[in-house]
Amino acid sequence: FKSKLPNTGTTIFTVMSALAKEHNAINLSQGFPNYPSSQKLNDLVAEAMNNGYNQYAPMAGNLDLRLAISHKYELLYKNTYHPEKEITVTAGATQAIYTIISAFIRSDDEVIMFKPAYDCYEPAVEINGGKTIPIQLSAPNYEVDWDEVASKITSKTKMIIINSPHNPSGTIWSKEDMLQLQKLTENTNIIVLSDEVYEHIVFDKAQHQSACLFQGLKQRSFITASFGKTFHNTGWKIGYCCAPEELMVEFRKVHQFNVFSVHHPSQKGIADYMQDAETYLSLNTFFQRKRDLFLNLISESRFKFQPSKGTYFQVLDYSEITDEYDVDFAKRLTEEHKIAGIPLSVFNEKGKDDKVLRFCFAKTNETLVQAAEIINEI
Ligand code: PMP
Ligand code: GLN
Repeated sequence: FKSKLPNTGTTIFTVMSALAKEHNAINLSQGFPNYPSSQKLNDLVAEAMNNGYNQYAPMAGNLDLRLAISHKYELLYKNTYHPEKEITVTAGATQAIYTIISAFIRSDDEVIMFKPAYDCYEPAVEINGGKTIPIQLSAPNYEVDWDEVASKITSKTKMIIINSPHNPSGTIWSKEDMLQLQKLTENTNIIVLSDEVYEHIVFDKAQHQSACLFQGLKQRSFITASFGKTFHNTGWKIGYCCAPEELMVEFRKVHQFNVFSVHHPSQKGIADYMQDAETYLSLNTFFQRKRDLFLNLISESRFKFQPSKGTYFQVLDYSEITDEYDVDFAKRLTEEHKIAGIPLSVFNEKGKDDKVLRFCFAKTNETLVQAAEIINEI
């Protein structure tokens, strides 16, 4: 047979987590917490199971959960997404992203994305016959040159994928960035896929600039989100997307035959848990403490950094330590120093190497202290 994805290998998250395990290294590579998710939430899911939420959820998701999501948009962004028509619950953000791309991308459609890019975007475009148009950003600031974006938009541009707070760089887009995007997409049919899985993890009192805050963007955007990030349970794989009704109709045509619906009891448990908005509003402070602890501990190390502005990732520049290729350095750190991070080149165009690694600080303070001890000795 002929592979539909000839250039796709195994995701770096699988590779680095396996290597960390093999070498008994502290795993700050793949992004997931190493502490338990809330007991209350676990109990609510168990309660949902005991109360009979064990058969298919409605195709678009448990209605209580869609109501809770809709309420969140009103509370945070003074914005309305109709719970029945404009919100669909998915198996994590990954399935939402894949389904959005499948529902809209045809052969030869162009999809603009900013590199470094989270690694599930490009294969989804390719398998649907689309063409990725990369816009490469650079460490340390990953700033967008909006003239370059303007120059890459053509009559073939079908979609633009954005992601703020940004994995892997830990940068966030400003209101100005969003306004630029809004201006460039005005009077076009371009769909925006705004991956906002880290919307509740923004530091130093910055505001998350959701696409729904900009009317011109909202009307053409899918927003994707992940409860795995918000409620510290990446293994549950529950997420959702919101979009205006006419876009969501197309999304559901694919979704209903892709998964139909996703794990029901966790949807009901999350819906009940979200009745208290503090469950998600407290995340900024929770992760800022972890970021600050980690950065204070490594401030004297040979790695250079700009504090992460959002997400639970910190990028560290190792150019003063070695000029090794980042993938080699990440592997050597895991094998020899027993600490695993993610090399950023794998998310870049043509393996561009800025000599930076990404470390996940969604870890117990004890793990962060141990990790910092190692980092300080490198
Ligand atoms: N987008 C980004 C930017 C992510 O970091 C992740 C998860 N790491 C996802 C999407 C996928 O989220 P989920 O685990 O809910 O599928
Ligand atoms: N999103 C997680 C990360 O960036 C990994 C998810 C996965 O392993 N697919 O580390």
